[in-house]
Amino acid sequence: MSQRARRDPGEVSLLAAILEGTTSLSGAACVGSEALFDPKGRDEESADADYRHQAAAELCRTCPVLDACRDWADQSDTNAVIAGRRPALPGNPGRPRKDSAA
Ligand code: SF4
Repeated sequence: MSQRARRDPGEVSLLAAILEGTTSLSGAACVGSEALFDPKGRDEESADADYRHQAAAELCRTCPVLDACRDWADQSDTNAVIAGRRPALPGNPGRPRKDSAA
């Protein structure tokens, strides 16, 4: 079986269609520091994840696209740090869930 030398141009068109209308976060401060933002690992201690998430949230406070990210994050449900919001961990209440009563 031969391999294609180039990507199918349909893949690029499909990706462009998927991303159309998404918020531009060009210049995001988290680029290159993604590991800080990841959800708590299965075998990771909560204290370690919390420390990592605090560092990520600090980075968000310096981010030039924080407002745009916050708007986008309001439509997202994740266990990662996003727009300076830390996920709930044992001993860290984090941000309220969207479906929680006010
Ligand atoms: S606000 Fe935080 S999560 Fe959002 S783009 Fe900036 S650094 Fe990344």
